[in-house]
Amino acid sequence: MVRIAETYEAARERFCTSLPAVQSLWPEARLNKHALKSDEDLSIDWISAEAQGKKEKMLIVTTAEHGIEGYVGTAILQLFIEEYLPNLDPRNTGILLVHTINPWGMKHRRRVNANNVDLNRSFVEDFAPLGSANPDYDLLYKLLTPGKPLRAVDLQIASFVGQAIYNLARYGMTRLREATLRGQFNHPEGIYYGGQSRQEETAVMMNLFEQAIAGYDQMLTIDLHTGYGPRDQMTLVASAQEKMTSDEMSKKFNIPKVAAANPEEFYTMNGDMIEYLYTLMKVKFPERHFYAAAFEFGTFGDSTLAVIRSLYTTVFENRFFRHKGSRAAEKWVMCEYGELFAPTAPEWFEKAQQDARQAFGGILKAEGFTTE
Ligand SMILES: [Zn+2]
Repeated sequence: MVRIAETYEAARERFCTSLPAVQSLWPEARLNKHALKSDEDLSIDWISAEAQGKKEKMLIVTTAEHGIEGYVGTAILQLFIEEYLPNLDPRNTGILLVHTINPWGMKHRRRVNANNVDLNRSFVEDFAPLGSANPDYDLLYKLLTPGKPLRAVDLQIASFVGQAIYNLARYGMTRLREATLRGQFNHPEGIYYGGQSRQEETAVMMNLFEQAIAGYDQMLTIDLHTGYGPRDQMTLVASAQEKMTSDEMSKKFNIPKVAAANPEEFYTMNGDMIEYLYTLMKVKFPERHFYAAAFEFGTFGDSTLAVIRSLYTTVFENRFFRHKGSRAAEKWVMCEYGELFAPTAPEWFEKAQQDARQAFGGILKAEGFTTE
């Protein structure tokens, strides 16, 4: 039975000790790592192996792009290694399993990296035009980026909810969500900040992807996330560039909930990793068969109140990190932020594993990686 690791180090240890199991299938499989320049105890670790014969299919699974989401993500990766890897065919299939894209964030239980960058907004070729990409964030700057220590959380929540409802009435839910989740590139102290230059972790991943894809006819990438969508049903989040509709994907993969990353179904993102992969494939490998998507394991839910709760939890976590506050506020942040991205309820994780099994099974079969 797979468990959620208590610490980043324990999760990494578990991943590293799974190498022999992978080598029993791909004897040439290797464990590699990139230690972060700022802290060499933190590393992006990956296991990779080439197909033993003809290079037909490449399967990539990635986790913890949003640090704290890696507690669930690395457990689901472990589930994949134990239950699905043995069903692949090493003769024609290569693999790349990435343990943590954002080890600093996982270690410190934050979504962002040490530069406050949301790595899923950082897969950008040219940062210059993005400064003006999200004027609505500027409009809501005060609400989203309060500059004072966090105290009296209950009062702060009441005030935030009041303002959020006022802004909802004024701008509508779609615009409010887009203002935040789309990402912003102007305020390094703010939430959903995509950075102003290439991040170390992003560069590592771009290289890994390009190397992994080269030489294969077909590629499949699954990126593991938590925090959005209904609490008890995983959402498959597909690229806005994917040609299949959500209904078609739902049928093809036998996954109940599928959303494309556009404002109607999910939200739009600048610098998103899956979008980067679609663009990379279109530009460099246009003839390859290719599918990439994220698994989103929802936590707070998708009602309007749940979305507002997710938002103030995110805002207050960032506020506490920057400006500190009371002891009680610190406790609140650790608890709520933990529940937003790594829920403690055993039944939640049980259902997450069931959904992951259904999704891995459906996608691997539909994409021709497994036969059963
Ligand atoms: Zn995420």
